[in-house]
Amino acid sequence: MKQTPYVGRFAPSPTGPLHFGSLVAALASYLDARNAGGIWRVRMEDVDGPRCRPEHARALLQSLTAFGLAWDGEVATQSGRTALYGCALDALRARGCLYGCACSRREVSDSALDGIEGPVYPGTCRDRRLPWEGNAVRVATRGAMIEFQDRCQGVQRQALERDIGDFVVRRRDGLFSYQLAVVVDDADQGVTDVVRGADLLDSSQRQIHLQQLLGYQTPRYLHVPVATNAAGQKLSKQTLAPEVNPREAIRWLNLALAFLGQPVSSASTPQALLAAAAQAWNPARIPAVRALPAPLPALA
Ligand SMILES: [Zn+2]
Repeated sequence: MKQTPYVGRFAPSPTGPLHFGSLVAALASYLDARNAGGIWRVRMEDVDGPRCRPEHARALLQSLTAFGLAWDGEVATQSGRTALYGCALDALRARGCLYGCACSRREVSDSALDGIEGPVYPGTCRDRRLPWEGNAVRVATRGAMIEFQDRCQGVQRQALERDIGDFVVRRRDGLFSYQLAVVVDDADQGVTDVVRGADLLDSSQRQIHLQQLLGYQTPRYLHVPVATNAAGQKLSKQTLAPEVNPREAIRWLNLALAFLGQPVSSASTPQALLAAAAQAWNPARIPAVRALPAPLPALA
């Protein structure tokens, strides 16, 4: 049997310039792809609407280039792909696993037990046959047990119905959910390997559930630790993560390599550093934890 060639991707939300946390995620997925002689794609996850701006996407691509992280092919943008998400929604509808939900956020939290990510939707509207128009659309999780082997974090298991509950695939305002968009994009782009931050580890089971319902292949997963600030919060625009300065690319790349448990390099260009790091890349050395403090001196 012919082996599927490796296709990886970096899929940031274009909400601002690259910071240490996003550099780590980009670097890990880049090195894993290059080590395997594979393809590395970049995709802008901008379904989240107004916070995502074209100038942020441009700034992000410029910093990837400055760090030597050269991607293959065109940069895909989720906002240009809504027709595909609509097709997937039709396929799920045909399988009878979707339903309209009229519950407000308040109603859900009042009637729900807490799961892994807050209130678990108790399935109130499952059998109410509500119209989709003006309502959220949820996917049923009845009895789904999802288990997968993460290449860094080990075996992951969720009883989806108990731990997460029926989740939204299209919001009341008509926007497709992140979970659905990611699954459709990964399948459409032939992604074989998802390498990303462990803040998305618990989303994987929802994505695998959708892959199974849609008849897609499930990719391999590797979730690397998320970089946190001194208060233990994930570095992001909201937690005021400092930008990484492309003029100090070597220093920042070495800090990111050390964060990932990989040997640092004395190379003098980002390209030479990345070539050496791709060859030496060993995921077994990545700390198998969900979060790690970012290197403090770097934040000074
Ligand atoms: Zn409901």
